[in-house]
Amino acid sequence: MARTVRPFFAALPAEYRECRVTMRHRYDSHNVIEHKKDKELEVIEVCSVCGAQRTQILDLRDRFYGQIKPSRTRMRHPQGYLAPAHSGGWMTVEERGVLRMARLGY
Ligand SMILES: [Zn+2]
Repeated sequence: MARTVRPFFAALPAEYRECRVTMRHRYDSHNVIEHKKDKELEVIEVCSVCGAQRTQILDLRDRFYGQIKPSRTRMRHPQGYLAPAHSGGWMTVEERGVLRMARLGY
């Protein structure tokens, strides 16, 4: 039931709410590790709002130059960021709707 996410939202640290509701992170900086042998670039970005960390692998081969390898993208979320386990940590469209409204005070 979607409305059960209200307590989750109430307990969610304020700095997580914006990212949680908008499904966006603000990556203002990055670190890059080049893996020459594998012809890959590892890009590590940290959200300046909530602290979530995204790691992406970019292809350095000529034919696929700069393309992201989606299956290798990894996210690491701060403690308490993910929704309760009933949804495997992810929120449904309905739950997100409830959070969106709760953020506006409804
Ligand atoms: Zn964030």
